Amino acid sequence: MTTAIHVQNLERVYRSAAEPVVALRGVNLEIAAGQFVALKGRSGSGKTTLLNCLGGLDQPTTGTIEVYGRALHTLDDQALTRWRQQEVGFIFQSFGLLPTLSAYENVELMLRIAGVAKGERNGRARECLDMVGLSKWADHRPYEMSGGQQQRVAIARAIANRPRLILADEATGELDSETAREILALFQAIARSRDLTILLASHDSLVDEYVDEVLHLEDGQIAPQAA
Ligand code: ADP
Ligand code: MG
Repeated sequence: MTTAIHVQNLERVYRSAAEPVVALRGVNLEIAAGQFVALKGRSGSGKTTLLNCLGGLDQPTTGTIEVYGRALHTLDDQALTRWRQQEVGFIFQSFGLLPTLSAYENVELMLRIAGVAKGERNGRARECLDMVGLSKWADHRPYEMSGGQQQRVAIARAIANRPRLILADEATGELDSETAREILALFQAIARSRDLTILLASHDSLVDEYVDEVLHLEDGQIAPQAA
């Protein structure tokens, strides 16, 4: 069994406000590769902070994070950026697509940023759009698409650089429940077919049916699992 995520005693304290905010207080976590895991918890429980730390967008105050055996604190800024581009795909609640670019261009741009050779980009972008069922929508811009379609483009973009870890923050938060189910089923299929590890932060009970494991975050700690 390959370990995708290994977190030890992770704490994250925000000190920007008058009073320090302890967002994560001693999180320990181990997730096997290929798992689709839901991270649940009320608003303010620390889900976004944890995802940001796992993806190297934010740094722990104390504690260590290893992703596929790579200890993130050993990487300097440049190495961390390169690691993120190669190993992690991010998906957000509000899709985050560039409005002036087509679906195809949104995906292709990500490959360009990740340094994928020109000759390979076209095939890979089309393959990813195909995987999310949007081949026929490649030339459409985000505003011509439904929310569910836009999120599919975002998923195609996230998997384009062939990451081993997908971090999805409230990825179904703006979708109606039928569309949310389609997106959850898509995540499930992607995790299985590509041996990708997916961590989805959500407070939607719909996700339980689709994931391999549910983790509960409470006040910055992983709550013991109910039997
Ligand atoms: P969730 O995603 O579960 O809603 P967050 O990780 O966003 O939780 O927030 C966890 C806690 O950290 C909350 O109390 C929130 O107010 C606080 N927090 C989040 N981001 C910041 C920040 N940049 N500065 C100060 N406090 C923050
Ligand atoms: Mg959040």
